[in-house]
Amino acid sequence: MGKLVIVGTVAFDAIETPFGKTDKILGGAATFIGLAASHFGIDAAAVSIVGGDFPQDYLDLLENKNIDISGIEIVKNGKTFFWSGRYHNDMNSRDTLVTELNTLADFNPKVPENYKDAEFVMLGNLHPLVQASVLDQMTTKPKLAVLDTMNYWMDCAWDDLMNVIKRVDVITINDEEARQLTGEYSLVVAARKIHAMGPKYVVIKKGEHGALLFHNNDVFYAPALPLEEVFDPTGAGDTFAGGFTGYLAKTGDISFENMKNAVIYGSTLASFCVEKFGSERMQELSSDEVQKRLMQFKNLTQFEIELS
Ligand code: AMP
Repeated sequence: MGKLVIVGTVAFDAIETPFGKTDKILGGAATFIGLAASHFGIDAAAVSIVGGDFPQDYLDLLENKNIDISGIEIVKNGKTFFWSGRYHNDMNSRDTLVTELNTLADFNPKVPENYKDAEFVMLGNLHPLVQASVLDQMTTKPKLAVLDTMNYWMDCAWDDLMNVIKRVDVITINDEEARQLTGEYSLVVAARKIHAMGPKYVVIKKGEHGALLFHNNDVFYAPALPLEEVFDPTGAGDTFAGGFTGYLAKTGDISFENMKNAVIYGSTLASFCVEKFGSERMQELSSDEVQKRLMQFKNLTQFEIELS
């Protein structure tokens, strides 16, 4: 079982969907990744930064999920990163209403000493230089480094992004971002071009249409579980990444075959994330519920066919 370092935002989110609206609630990529990874009983540490306004209750919540928070810096006289977004009726697209970087503007990640030899690293969506700094601090080369990013960094930090992409084994991005990164409409061609940038494995998330895993000429596809209602998609991508990496850290097996299972775990956990606002569903999720839904997934995708 490998140790996992997670870097990303720990944030306040205020979300509006066609179903309702929240005030500031617990969010951030590292929060979603950590809550998902906490289902695998591994040693995981979150590296992030918050302000003095960040409630102790939220820190306790993460700690109670066995997430090591010693790498979360608290700037007493600073404010926590705040993001606010409004979803359109189709729930697939959203407008960002507010991004207040606050303490994140001067974030200098510090990997805890006892995690510098971690075998697994999950670089959540942040400035590529911050992501690279985490890799620089590792005293031994991780067995697997996974990176998530977004179009914003393609627009404003292209060279830095290319430099960090080169150094990771897996990239998880959504379909639009894969197209922007490569200028290719076909996701198969896009994945090939991303391989050439460095990552041996490319995961392309397609929201309600599932996820694709590419490795050289091999492709694996996992659908998203058809849900009656998507309440709030915030953090689903991060939850997927946390489930994917958490499962690999637990099993220690980074073969393509095992990554298929990791994709299924990621999709399963993400299917819970969207059921309530922000991270609320992930905070209360039990392992029994996860097991039941994995079974549903299996039934959804398994069939017997006679090949002549
Ligand atoms: P996702 O729905 O996967 O895009 O993730 C949503 C989470 O990302 C929210 O909890 C936000 O706090 C966080 N977030 C939003 N914008 C940014 C940003 N520019 N950099 C880092 N994290 C962000």
